[in-house]
Amino acid sequence: MMTPVNIKAADKMLTIKWDDERITNIKLANLRINCPCAICSVDRESHGSKYIPIYSDEQLTISNIEVIGNYAIGISWKDNHNTGIYDYNHLIKLSS
Ligand SMILES: [Zn+2]
Repeated sequence: MMTPVNIKAADKMLTIKWDDERITNIKLANLRINCPCAICSVDRESHGSKYIPIYSDEQLTISNIEVIGNYAIGISWKDNHNTGIYDYNHLIKLSS
């Protein structure tokens, strides 16, 4: 399992450097739209597959990132949404 050695959010992009030197770039909008928490999952389901949410700047600004165990990061957004836990495999999928 790869582990992040460096994570930064800048220019509307989350950049993760992994311990095998690989670098993953994920657009913050893509990260937010795929938030795996229960609230967002239910929201996506209720809107259907053609739903394109419009986000405010606050909803697309990361205020905190914390490493959870050895498998995931928890992301807090400036609009106080902080229930999204992204496991490393999910993050790699979102970058492609
Ligand atoms: Zn969420």
